Amino acid sequence: MIETYTHAFPVKTGWIEVITGCMFSGKTEELIRRLKRARIARQTVLVIKPRVDNRFSLTEIVSHSEQSLDSLMVEKAEDILPLAKDFQVIGIDEAQFFSPALVMVCNELADDGKRVIVAGLDQDYKGVPFDPMPQLLATAEYITKTLAICVNCGNPADRTQRKTADQDRVVVGAGNIYEARCRKCHYIPKE
Ligand code: ZN
Repeated sequence: MIETYTHAFPVKTGWIEVITGCMFSGKTEELIRRLKRARIARQTVLVIKPRVDNRFSLTEIVSHSEQSLDSLMVEKAEDILPLAKDFQVIGIDEAQFFSPALVMVCNELADDGKRVIVAGLDQDYKGVPFDPMPQLLATAEYITKTLAICVNCGNPADRTQRKTADQDRVVVGAGNIYEARCRKCHYIPKE
């Protein structure tokens, strides 16, 4: 017998999508692609990024391939909730720079019926999982892991190689500080 559910259709059902991988794997490009498609469907779209990332533009999210989308910068994850109120789709870039509160915020937005699309680095330059990405991945409905190509050997790359001896976890910079490497070619820079 086939069971029928009278409520088995999506009414105000939200969810979380996570796009994650190393640098130069096209995370922001994929985020922008999904958000632009939502806009074409006349859905209301809010794009958020943390204030720490000012490498290209203060008012846009910009991929390395120079795709861009207007965005709002916020100081902390909790700031997203009041801003997101009137939007159907919420895009969040550089999620690894937010505190663990981002997990609660994304889940609250999804519970409220919104589509939440989050992009961020899954590992730091040492290959250590970058909070809050592991917690976001665990609570997301959809996960996309983007791979780059290893600059050293041409294999699929999932790690970010830092090319300077800088020991800070976060050094925001462009292509000359970082490159994509595979598991075999990646190493932790000497202290
Ligand atoms: Zn390699």
